Amino acid sequence: MVTNTQKQKKALKQGMLDNVMRQFDNAADIIGLNPNIRKILEVTNNELVVHFPARMDNGEVEVFTGYRVQHNNSLGPYKGGLRYHPTVDIDAARALAMWMTWKTALAGLPYGGAKGGIQLDPKKYSLAELERITRRFTYALGDNIGPELDIPAPDVNTNSQTMAWILDTYMSTKSPSERSKNMHVVTGKPVGAGGSEGRDRATGYGVFLTIKFWAEKKNVTLKDKKFIVQGFGNVGYWTAHFLEKEGAKLTAVQDAYGSIINENGIPVEKLLEYSQANKGSILGFSAAQSIDNSEFFGLDCDIIIPAALGNQITSINAPRIKAYLIAEGANGPTDVEAEEVLLKKGIDIIPDILCNSGGVIGSYFEWLQNRNGEIWQLDEVMQKLEKKLKESFVKVMNTSTDRNVDMRTAAFIIAIERLEEAYVQRGIFP
Ligand code: GLU
Repeated sequence: MVTNTQKQKKALKQGMLDNVMRQFDNAADIIGLNPNIRKILEVTNNELVVHFPARMDNGEVEVFTGYRVQHNNSLGPYKGGLRYHPTVDIDAARALAMWMTWKTALAGLPYGGAKGGIQLDPKKYSLAELERITRRFTYALGDNIGPELDIPAPDVNTNSQTMAWILDTYMSTKSPSERSKNMHVVTGKPVGAGGSEGRDRATGYGVFLTIKFWAEKKNVTLKDKKFIVQGFGNVGYWTAHFLEKEGAKLTAVQDAYGSIINENGIPVEKLLEYSQANKGSILGFSAAQSIDNSEFFGLDCDIIIPAALGNQITSINAPRIKAYLIAEGANGPTDVEAEEVLLKKGIDIIPDILCNSGGVIGSYFEWLQNRNGEIWQLDEVMQKLEKKLKESFVKVMNTSTDRNVDMRTAAFIIAIERLEEAYVQRGIFP
């Protein structure tokens, strides 16, 4: 559920940093991570907080606070999204940047981890205001981002349009002969503005694929399985789209406005059409009934896909969960206490850094195309994505079996070991 009060907001952000640190410590303890490397990975490299003005439609000026936290770049340039949300602050950006480092390391990409955004509620601003806010934020970030330094991408409440504004603003600050060299300063751009085919659906397709791989491994079919989705943005929608195509049934959805249910199945494309025409809200959709938000995670279903914010599955709702699989489309949706409860109940969790890594893998493909002056077809992108995700999935499953640990711990072990190896081989300057 998307929370509103200050108190809940505080719990949300503290929880995320606390969770990612506990997940890291757990895996680091198991592998006996070199204590010097542990010291490095426990902290973020750089943290930028910017206050910048933007003109509102009524002529007044508002001052906003933006963040970019760069956690680690030992494997390559910093990489990660920008989110626009009231819960964005320095601790949230730190936690999300750390998850990006583990995500890119697990995926075997030549990237580090970063995250940032602006603390605001985008619903309160017009499109023209959001454009000015985004451009002024980009200007404030200046050369702290860059195509070979730190590459932002979409995240909660940002999209390909946001990336196009960032690209245009960043390029405009460069001399004409330098401009086209900077196309890969952001990924997740519209296809017409240097984006890649398939990046729009890459995260949701990846979530779907990890569920499919899991089902194949467990010898279960996805046909007629009931799934529920929290968040009907880019990730929630595309995941539901692909699962529905596979014969599974979307039976409930929750978004920032409320929850809806239909045991016989909610038609995914119709719900998208409805929400697009209804200011992004699913509430009032005629082919479903409204239910109380508190009932959502306890609903009778097979698969739960949290695809909204962090810390949604907690020790309060975890005991009520009836599904046997949780596929984390969001970053950090399950807190550590909830995870203990779920694992004891025998519920599997496909961890965020594996489950939603299709997004950043898609970003990597876009970055490569821009860098090499190439344009790949949709089917080529999707095949490459599937191959990469399958490799990660198999590695996580094998590590989980070999070390007798859950999937999240296995994913963290693979990521941390890759970083440890890089540090051991390169040493510490000077
Ligand atoms: N924001 C997405 C994530 O959390 C995508 C990041 C990217 O493509 O760089 O993974």
